[in-house]
Amino acid sequence: MRTLEELDRLLPLTAQEKSWIGEECSLPLGISRYYLGLIDPHDPQDPLRRQVVPTCHESFEQSGESGDPLAEVSHTMAPRLIHRYRNRAAFLVTDTCATYCRHCFRRRFTGASGGKATAEELSQAALYVASHLEIKELLFTGGDPFTLSDIQLEQMIQAFRSMRPDLLIRLCTRTPATFPERITPELIIMLKRHMSAPFYLLTQFNHPREITPESRAAVALFVDAGIPALNQTVLLRGVNDEVDTLETLMNALVALRVKPYYLFQGDLVHGTAHFRVPLEKGMALEAELRIRLSGLAMPTYAIDLPDGGGKVPIGKRYCEGRDEQGAWIFRTPEGQRRRYPDPDLS
Ligand code: SF4
Repeated sequence: MRTLEELDRLLPLTAQEKSWIGEECSLPLGISRYYLGLIDPHDPQDPLRRQVVPTCHESFEQSGESGDPLAEVSHTMAPRLIHRYRNRAAFLVTDTCATYCRHCFRRRFTGASGGKATAEELSQAALYVASHLEIKELLFTGGDPFTLSDIQLEQMIQAFRSMRPDLLIRLCTRTPATFPERITPELIIMLKRHMSAPFYLLTQFNHPREITPESRAAVALFVDAGIPALNQTVLLRGVNDEVDTLETLMNALVALRVKPYYLFQGDLVHGTAHFRVPLEKGMALEAELRIRLSGLAMPTYAIDLPDGGGKVPIGKRYCEGRDEQGAWIFRTPEGQRRRYPDPDLS
């Protein structure tokens, strides 16, 4: 689905959805037929619908927002190559996605018709990574790498790994949630030809209803092939900002053999204020999840600080400082007090 008219025929749109002004928004409308089929057409507040159907709220700007809150532009060291953290870099393989998420933090780039990286861009990015041995991990992101064909993706992997066979590659994708039929045995066979270093799958599942027989099968193909899977959920108002929803999602991910990695506070990106959850509520959700979930199922609640400040964990603090004898004082998740003395090293 690429236009409101097309969409309106299958999913009767609300006034707020109809008044989305596409021209003023860099992020296009695009929803796969698969993902559209997961949406309840009779519920205007459907959490899956909120993630992909644009509204007029995208035209609203709030103070503190920016088009590039993570300062990716100023950290672009070669074409499409963002080097913000010393030991890892991100390569924007394409700007295309199988479905465009209205909360996308990289909307300055995503879906802007730039397409896949050119041979020249790829070559320059690979040379940069080859000459910066401090880069241990490379994120294939964008856009979504799995909108490329297997052959295109293989060329990109080869370009980096021919010079850096040790380079760990993270495949950052929402395709298992939005277009799982793209994940085929042939794709996995191609990846297995290039296992000189690990691949990691980084998915983005935001709601338990995104976990379906199809998405389960897609994830299983990676994990069965020895590619570990981690998930990054974005905390989104009206989508997953209820503790029961998050608890169900995290447990379902673990059952899929996907480790919940991050629960992200929304970035300060233009046009996404309607998705951001107040921090106080986010921290309360994190505290309750810590009581309900195992360590395996518990993601790190984190915020990517504005102006490229980097990721930091947020949430309830359990260490309250020292008592009069110098022992550390902690609160249990349930609020009880515990004392932890340091060893006597004298
Ligand atoms: S799949 Fe990722 S890059 Fe694409 S729109 Fe969604 S969040 Fe943005």
